[in-house]
Amino acid sequence: MNFFIQRSKLRDLYDKVVAGERISEADALRLFETKDLNALGAIADFVRQRKVGNRASFIINRYINYSNYCILSCQFCSFARKKRDADGFELTVPQIVEKASEALKLGITELHIVGGLHPSLPFSYYLEMLKALKNLDARLQLKCFTAIEILHLAWLAKKSVEQTLVELKAAGLDSLTGGGAEIFQPDVRRTIAKGKESAAEYLDVHRTWHKLGGRSTCTMLYGHVESLADRVDHLRQLRALQDETSGFTGFIPLAYHPENNDIPVKTPPTGFDSLRTIAVSRIYLDNFPHVTAYWIGLGMKLAQVALSYGADDIHGTIIEEHIFHMAGANSPQLQTETDMIKAIRETGLTPVQRNTFYEPIKVLADATASEPAENPAHSKVLEDNLATA
Ligand code: SF4
Repeated sequence: MNFFIQRSKLRDLYDKVVAGERISEADALRLFETKDLNALGAIADFVRQRKVGNRASFIINRYINYSNYCILSCQFCSFARKKRDADGFELTVPQIVEKASEALKLGITELHIVGGLHPSLPFSYYLEMLKALKNLDARLQLKCFTAIEILHLAWLAKKSVEQTLVELKAAGLDSLTGGGAEIFQPDVRRTIAKGKESAAEYLDVHRTWHKLGGRSTCTMLYGHVESLADRVDHLRQLRALQDETSGFTGFIPLAYHPENNDIPVKTPPTGFDSLRTIAVSRIYLDNFPHVTAYWIGLGMKLAQVALSYGADDIHGTIIEEHIFHMAGANSPQLQTETDMIKAIRETGLTPVQRNTFYEPIKVLADATASEPAENPAHSKVLEDNLATA
């Protein structure tokens, strides 16, 4: 048994987890409230090891925001703009295809595409975008749209959510993103994202997608005005839906960034808070295969440490990120494949390149034989991003 657990007041919860018993919401709150981060991390690391063994994954992907115009004005959001704003943007389908085409040279397997709720783009724009990207390369996996975007598209199309998802799937949609969950507790949700869909609506979009055979991830935005009990309640609702559908491939906790918005939290999530949130999530969400340490929000150094606190994935190369950087994230715009492999390998875990569904593409078990050479196209894209930033 781990040294830290032997001496810890969390020993009873460790015994419960080892016995394969599900922890309760009261147990999860107790874990959130503990100051014994070493013992909490050891329990989460035990669960991670039991789930995925000695592996940790990453994906070679590219983010594209098709537009930051949005008809809503969520108080916490630093990304959305109105048509009158000078720094608003929208991309045509050919511009999106060009970005995707450039990124294919880096070996990406996934495009992650989200935007605001655009005031005038028609439903056909979104279908054309998906079809054009699949035409570019049918192997490219398209992870697109948050739940609120799906509700917006259903409204545009004047169709049910189910029929909207059916048509998006037929056009090439492979996975929904998990964005927009924020915190489900209604008072907190009203405070940070008035006008956004309710928790029930968010969950119902994912439920409908899962029942169509689709898969998605889900998120929790933590470290603003919510309480620890609100976080437990959020996780409870995600675990319940996963019990029902088994459609979530992974959970991605998102650390709140407070700049350029109307919720100026004085103390955004600390390293301690992020590690305990990842650890409690890993222990409580016993029906989730994967927990991701999102390096854009955490910084790569803390994401790497999170691999010893329950996370088994450090997300992707990303290449161009707007949402967190407009909220003050000072992480870089991209990680190279080589840097991600190095970060994982240093923790003693075996790096695995994965696809959108967390399925392995390449296991990099041997440090000497299979280390990929630095791709010169990465620095070219980084230079281009800096030039246009
Ligand atoms: S969080 Fe999403 S829905 Fe809300 S204002 Fe920002 S872009 Fe719009």
